[in-house]
Amino acid sequence: MKLIFEKSVNGRSCTILPKCDVKQTCLDEDLERQSSLDLPQLGESDISRHYTELCKNVYGVNDGFYPLGSCTMKYNPRIDEQIASMPAFTDIHPLAPEASTEGCREVLDLAGKYLCEITGMDDMTFQPAAGAHGEFTGVLLIKQYHKARGDEKRTKIIVPDSAHGTNPATAAMCGFQVVNISSSEDGCVDLDALKAALGEDTAGLMLTNPNTLGIFDENILEITRLVHEAGGLCYYDGANLNAVMGIVRPGDMGFDCIHLNLHKTFATPHGGGGPGAGAVGCKAFLKDYLPSSAIMGSKGIQVRSFSGNFLVVVKALTYILTLGREGIPEAARNAVLNANYLMKRLEGTFEPAFERICMHEFVLGLGRFKEQTGVSALDVAKSLIDRGIHPPTMYFPLIVHEALMFEPTETESMETLDHVADVLRELYELAHKDPEYMKGAPHNAQIGRPDEVQAARNPILRWKADD
Ligand SMILES: *Cc1c(COP(=O)(O)O)cnc(C)c1O
Repeated sequence: MKLIFEKSVNGRSCTILPKCDVKQTCLDEDLERQSSLDLPQLGESDISRHYTELCKNVYGVNDGFYPLGSCTMKYNPRIDEQIASMPAFTDIHPLAPEASTEGCREVLDLAGKYLCEITGMDDMTFQPAAGAHGEFTGVLLIKQYHKARGDEKRTKIIVPDSAHGTNPATAAMCGFQVVNISSSEDGCVDLDALKAALGEDTAGLMLTNPNTLGIFDENILEITRLVHEAGGLCYYDGANLNAVMGIVRPGDMGFDCIHLNLHKTFATPHGGGGPGAGAVGCKAFLKDYLPSSAIMGSKGIQVRSFSGNFLVVVKALTYILTLGREGIPEAARNAVLNANYLMKRLEGTFEPAFERICMHEFVLGLGRFKEQTGVSALDVAKSLIDRGIHPPTMYFPLIVHEALMFEPTETESMETLDHVADVLRELYELAHKDPEYMKGAPHNAQIGRPDEVQAARNPILRWKADD
């Protein structure tokens, strides 16, 4: 479709701005724009059509199945959005007198209390604005802890090879050396590799459980015990808590600090970089290092101003209160059930990377399928677009060859899962009959196969006038 600038016609306009009702002032000449502002010129109905067309080209969880593994693209109940748009929450200022923001502070306290209960932590901050930002905060807590004890020889953070890419990036950003350990045959932490990596220089371990393969590591208590025995701390990447919330707690697994992505599990839509919240929780012995919600007078580290993205916390609290003590674990159980149901319905077609019961997500390995048909995981993903289904996460985790990672989430109906399974089974057969057609997919989308390296390295993000 055309950009709004390309639709512009000189002289066309519509008056949508009200008359100026404040006194005009003149700026210094050197502050004034030297040339006129090059804005698109269109009538109101054309503007309206332009944005309506843009809307139709967006795909979100309310359009259809969106199984982006690790990302938890799940339905966000409308009530959470409604509560977060109440003027009592939107019309506040972080520097407003305390007496006028009591309700908002109660929201932060209550949300912190419930999330501590869900995770088995003792304290929590909502300051970090995203998951990676939360990791950065959490690993800084670990750093502060060792520093305060004068234990400065601890320079290494251990990260399994199935980890989300942000984990090693975080450890490096915090000034640690990253020690990668390989996974065992069954997709879990290789205990021997862990033991070999541990030592006097270990600051900590970063782990996701269930991991990005959708597998719950049954040795978790042994893993955290070994790290503690070596003098390190354990960090839990809880970006995605969908499989375990209300069922098992990172705190009980032996973790010392964690982050949660409220914009994955707790009712804030995400994708496209909207506001999020990477809540960071910790055990009592680390709480003095946590950011406090005020910008001044805090002992702890500061990673963002004030209390973070407050309205995201309002949504999380609404979500927790509406689901309640029974609803939270039920959502987790349904997420696990849905993932296992879909994996089972694919039996005899695409092979799972690990033949075992999965948690909230599962990974297919299309290595052998590609050898047989020439059709890659990318081709299957592109073919799903033609059938109105958003592709799953591709080529991640890195340790699975030709990976497709599905996370159906708890709110998908059996009919949807059956439909998706039928489509995937059909694509499996099509790949054997007409692989060339699949290599050309998508056939019905606006954009087919962009040059992904160019798109990532040299993205064109704004319109520029031809001179
Ligand atoms: C999404 C995710 C992150 C990063 O969260 P952002 O909000 O995107 O920074 C970290 N770890 C895991 C396992 C994730 O799924």
